[in-house]
Amino acid sequence: MTSPLSWLEIDLEAIRSNIRLFRSRIPHETSLMAVVKGEAYGHGMEPVAKAALEAGADWLGVFSLDELCRLREAGLKHPVLLLGYVPVNDVAEALRLDARITVSSLQTLEAASKAANECGLEARLHLKLETGTHRLGMEGEELQKVLVKIQADDRLILEGAHTHFANIEDTTEHDYAGGQLERFEQLLSMIRSKGFQVPKPHTACTAAAILFPKTYFKLVRVGIGQYGLWPSKETYLSAIKKGSESMDLKPALTWKTMVAQVKDIPKGAYVGYGCTYRTTRPTRLAILPIGYYNGYDRLLSNTGHVLVHGMRAPIRGRVCMNLTMVDVTDIDGVELEDEVVLLGTQGEETIDAQQLAAWAHTINYEVVTRADPRAPRIIINDE
Ligand SMILES: *Cc1c(COP(=O)(O)O)cnc(C)c1O
Repeated sequence: MTSPLSWLEIDLEAIRSNIRLFRSRIPHETSLMAVVKGEAYGHGMEPVAKAALEAGADWLGVFSLDELCRLREAGLKHPVLLLGYVPVNDVAEALRLDARITVSSLQTLEAASKAANECGLEARLHLKLETGTHRLGMEGEELQKVLVKIQADDRLILEGAHTHFANIEDTTEHDYAGGQLERFEQLLSMIRSKGFQVPKPHTACTAAAILFPKTYFKLVRVGIGQYGLWPSKETYLSAIKKGSESMDLKPALTWKTMVAQVKDIPKGAYVGYGCTYRTTRPTRLAILPIGYYNGYDRLLSNTGHVLVHGMRAPIRGRVCMNLTMVDVTDIDGVELEDEVVLLGTQGEETIDAQQLAAWAHTINYEVVTRADPRAPRIIINDE
């Protein structure tokens, strides 16, 4: 077996601790869904799902059927909601794997009806209601037709209805989210007035789970928070403003690489493609075998830092496809194959996902989800 050039350490005790924290904040009768789409936001789906369930999550949320297949192969029999799109041809397979299916169009509903009747199975459906995000979701006439069809088909069970907020983590003003919540409640009343119980309505993502208990209904969908990350600075500020007890979220992911060469270059030397950096003093560089191929963003060029011996080493020149150069002139004794932290803590220093995201003009969600998808995830603090 070859040695990895980059690897991620995933602290399952951090995941469990974050899940316990959310569990303790929501009412007992409200279910807690661990959202593990996107390879558990880059952390590795199966181990995270198991840790979350151990710690008190009782539902799992994924985007696609292939993710559900993997959870079932891993022996997890818990309720799983497919939050995304199921191609019409795959609906039968989803039912056989006991999926809860999100219905956001009449076509999917018709496919569910056909598949349920052909397989002799019940289809547990969650209607995605359009409340203003204008992503997946239904309203108006289409929704009415869907309700009529469900009413007419005994194999279709309307278990849930949900929506997703467009503007809850990007602002400290939550009027738009409030409007969406109102719209959701109107649609839910309309559906219930037709005789449906809808036992599991849900709207809350992490930001809503932290800020607004009135969004909980009967299930809360926690993604980014279970990984120990705040959805945004705005969410953090809103939490402080509301005086809600601060949440002690623990980041679960550390991303590492190693030193592939140490070299001394003179004052006035250029570093990397485009000669975008020129040294202002005799400089010691460490060359790292990590680049944009590994999801280490090229926007970090001449901007980001890494941790070596517990100190910050600034990136010099451009991030290449497979290599990055950092300045270790002020860090004593750096040697070949010394461990380097790209994201996480080393000694007293931390580079968190929010910081990397700011340097790369993106959000922490994207940073962790794209952290070297092909690199091994090494589990620590497994039980
Ligand atoms: C990804 C996703 C979530 C989780 O959002 P976080 O902000 O990560 O908590 C919740 N609901 C839906 C529909 C999603 O797609």
